[in-house]
Amino acid sequence: MSSILLSEERIQARVRELGAAISATYRDKQPFLMVGVLRGAAPFFADLLRSITVPVSIDFMSISSYTTPAPSSGAVRIIKDLDHPIAGKHVLLVEDIIDTGLTLRYIRKNLLLRHPSSLGVCVLLDRPKRRLVEMSIDHVGFEIPDEYVVGYGLDHRQLYRNLPFVTLWDHSEE
Ligand code: 5GP
Repeated sequence: MSSILLSEERIQARVRELGAAISATYRDKQPFLMVGVLRGAAPFFADLLRSITVPVSIDFMSISSYTTPAPSSGAVRIIKDLDHPIAGKHVLLVEDIIDTGLTLRYIRKNLLLRHPSSLGVCVLLDRPKRRLVEMSIDHVGFEIPDEYVVGYGLDHRQLYRNLPFVTLWDHSEE
């Protein structure tokens, strides 16, 4: 495991900033619901949640990408859906990373059909270089270069999610 891209200290400082900005946004937008996308967003979601200072409830979705027939369609399989309806709620979708944008576009469309009062998006990482679809993101932790990363929720074959930092994946370790 080599070059650390984002240290634990940098991540935690940025999460506190995001928490303050999001709290300010949702002070007058109640009821406020944070939706985490499992599994990658779990550590970010938990830290972000603890930095929120306004009333908030939480729910989770778990998704997996289809590998066939067309990964580029962005269609995802919902493995676990939300437990409760979101109609009339101000929803903030929390994801680990936006890359092509296809996954978030799919989830966003799916949630909009359920008539939330508003639907915002917060991502820890944004890799704009590989974007295929325009997506407006309300809160971004860090913009990152065009390199595969692991740590702080992001995995390689389900490992490394526990690292408290984000690091470039070293392909030589495969
Ligand atoms: P998108 O649909 O925006 O291309 O991809 C989003 C999903 O791809 C993320 O939720 C994440 O699961 C995965 N992903 C994209 N880039 C990376 C990366 O650099 N590292 C890891 N571990 N997962 C990534």
